[in-house]
Amino acid sequence: MNPLRKRIGVLGGGQLGRMLLEESARYHVHYTILEASQDCPCYSMANEFICGSLMDEEKIRELANSCDVLTYEIEHVNTDALIQLEKEGKEIIPSPKILQLIQDKGLQKEFYQQHQIPSGKFYLVNSKEDWPEIIPLLGSEKFVAKTRKGGYDGKGVAILNSKEILADPKRIPFDVPCVLEEFIACEKELAVIVARDQAGNILTFPSIEMEFDPIANLVTVLLSPARISNELEQKAEKIARDLVQALNGPGLFAVELFLSSDGNIYVNEVAPRPHNSGHHTIEACYTSQYEQLLRILLHLPLGSTELVQCAGMVNLLGADDFSGHYYLENLDKVSKLPGVYVHLYGKTESKPKRKMGHVSILAPSWEEVIEKANYITGVLAFKKD
Ligand code: ADP
Repeated sequence: MNPLRKRIGVLGGGQLGRMLLEESARYHVHYTILEASQDCPCYSMANEFICGSLMDEEKIRELANSCDVLTYEIEHVNTDALIQLEKEGKEIIPSPKILQLIQDKGLQKEFYQQHQIPSGKFYLVNSKEDWPEIIPLLGSEKFVAKTRKGGYDGKGVAILNSKEILADPKRIPFDVPCVLEEFIACEKELAVIVARDQAGNILTFPSIEMEFDPIANLVTVLLSPARISNELEQKAEKIARDLVQALNGPGLFAVELFLSSDGNIYVNEVAPRPHNSGHHTIEACYTSQYEQLLRILLHLPLGSTELVQCAGMVNLLGADDFSGHYYLENLDKVSKLPGVYVHLYGKTESKPKRKMGHVSILAPSWEEVIEKANYITGVLAFKKD
């Protein structure tokens, strides 16, 4: 089939989907988006739009019937419906069987263990009654509890003090099946985005270093390549590549890693889709993460992942003090800077900490990237319109 005639269906109409559409515009391919509301970042850019829940089997089938290949830009979708469609012969990338594994943080951890992928120690619990006997086995002052299903952007994750929870079990935050993990004292959080095509070729993007806003638990500044030694860079890329090899199917995957204070690298989790930590690849790499996914969907060869320059990215989050229509204060000042690219996701309303857009930054050195990032985060702000 002529790759450019392939009709692509996407479950989810958020900003990741929007950037996939933006990057695909050069190829003039046909996209249908399934999303619960027209008030979403993809609506104005899709060729066709199906309004419906990502859990609705009928709507997913309607999407599948109108497209040659399906992908998703969010993990919270009806995987059973996708698995059934895959059985019937529909091409879905990445395979919904991979998505099913990733949707359950417990299965994910067991998968790493089975495939000798380095990841922190963990135990699975079914209810809060199980916690007191498991916590001492982790043997750390702090530990991390994660609900096995349904968490995102830090929701469903709690960093807890072992002694405090044992002394007062009423403080146990979740009474659903959870993963309890040892707390990894982190030097840096890293991510490596990996692309795998149908023939099994694998390419990794240069590593990304993330800094988190501890309150929103969203990435606030990231840099690529990460400021780590070549040896650690290679180690991180190898772990990410091994993981994707083990997942055994085509797609674009973002592997989140911890670099511990004692120099080890552990997998935290993997996302089977473009990732917030890869926004900078649009301007900073020969091929962006979004174009790479498009190439995989169209069975075209993977593109070079090389960085053109040092890159940074800051998320633009909704201001804490209001919800509603907005304007972006100091956009004019920021627009004057060279190597700075403002992205706005077209969301109608700003809400506290909502991801409204991002800014990518290119410069010859990390120092200059950081300097610009600090300036931008200091002046750009969403204000009530
Ligand atoms: P989500 O899937 O909601 O993004 P994560 O599993 O990535 O949740 O956890 C959110 C954040 O919590 C991580 O980015 C990291 O900062 C922290 N965290 C998670 N697991 C651990 C761990 N085992 N040790 C230390 N910090 C952790």
